[in-house]
Amino acid sequence: MSIISFTNKGIYCPQGKFYIDPWLPVDHAVITHGHADHARFGSRHYLCHKFTEPILRLRIDPNLSISTLDYNEAITINGVKVSMFPAGHIIGSAQIRLEYEGFVAVISGDYKTEYDGISSAFEPVRCHEFVTESTFGLPIYNWLPQKNMFDEITNWISNNQLQNKTSVFIAYSLGKAQRLMKGLEGIAKLFVHSSINNLNKAIESNGIILPGTELVTIETSKADTQNQIVILPPALLGTNLIKKLPNPSVAICSGWMQVRGSRRWQAADAGFAVSDHADWPGLLSAIKATGAEKVYVTHGSTATFSKYLNEIGIESAEVATQYGKEDDEEVAEPKKEED
Ligand SMILES: [Zn+2]
Ligand SMILES: [Zn+2]
Repeated sequence: MSIISFTNKGIYCPQGKFYIDPWLPVDHAVITHGHADHARFGSRHYLCHKFTEPILRLRIDPNLSISTLDYNEAITINGVKVSMFPAGHIIGSAQIRLEYEGFVAVISGDYKTEYDGISSAFEPVRCHEFVTESTFGLPIYNWLPQKNMFDEITNWISNNQLQNKTSVFIAYSLGKAQRLMKGLEGIAKLFVHSSINNLNKAIESNGIILPGTELVTIETSKADTQNQIVILPPALLGTNLIKKLPNPSVAICSGWMQVRGSRRWQAADAGFAVSDHADWPGLLSAIKATGAEKVYVTHGSTATFSKYLNEIGIESAEVATQYGKEDDEEVAEPKKEED
């Protein structure tokens, strides 16, 4: 039995007649999280976690038709029980659990297994079929524990401050920016770009309290940001906004930094492997915890990762999707000036 199929519009549940994270417009879209490769415009109705609703309204359209669920809450659509469990990826990210006549499928969306201090912690869900991501599905990806990672970053900031430098972080605006804000709260003043500020406001409209920040623009005075922390999205790398900051030292925060280091980046002084995706051990432990009979692998290292799963006795197939064009992927290939 199977209750999901892979179509040219996205992952489909034929029994429930709805799609999960479709990349083309459909009647009924169930959304795992607010990143643009998973939540796209044009569908007639959206179902998402309650924390994702204001993100969709901000990024897609304020007048979308949206209904929401909380974690562990369920509704039934055409006989299929649909519920959401924390994916630990960003605020509001949910694994979608589908149950039909006792058969269970889980679509993970993007996930990470370590608690990041701000997104609800990942919960493994038992199922027959599991759709996993594999953005970092190679053994070389092995993240530092969150505490050690923030210790490294905090040391870097302290060194910058000794040299009267402003610490500038390049981090994706939805997810990584809020995680950095939380991890660096109280160390120095936090300045963020307007694109991050808009998302912060949307997130806070749902009752979540984020650390206090100030807006940084091209007009912000040097005296204000000197020795402080500035968080900017990847599109701002190499732009005038950074050049106008007092004595900036720039760090890129991305899982890709684990391999490429800062060498790839002429414009960066440091790189930190901060990722909102599971690393290799995280992917394997999450998949084993589902007990799934069949695992479908999407985004990233799909071929290598599904081959490895088959070798260790977990039946697996790679699936072509259109995911993986945001968050860490975007940091890998920065665009030119946005504003
Ligand atoms: Zn994502
Ligand atoms: Zn994704």
